[in-house]
Amino acid sequence: MAKSPSRVSGTANKKSILCYLGLHKWKRAGGSSHFSSNVREKEYRCERCGRTKTVYETKV
Ligand SMILES: [Zn+2]
Repeated sequence: MAKSPSRVSGTANKKSILCYLGLHKWKRAGGSSHFSSNVREKEYRCERCGRTKTVYETKV
């Protein structure tokens, strides 16, 4: 068995260039509609880098 010294770049090593570019893979992490009845809060989390963002939606 030959051990190859070169590391195969796995997916774990990639911190995703897409995330770097701001193209996160948002997944719905939660949300609630507290606050006022006119605003809905949605929480998203990136599956790749774990970044979160909150989006406020206004009900029309
Ligand atoms: Zn990301």
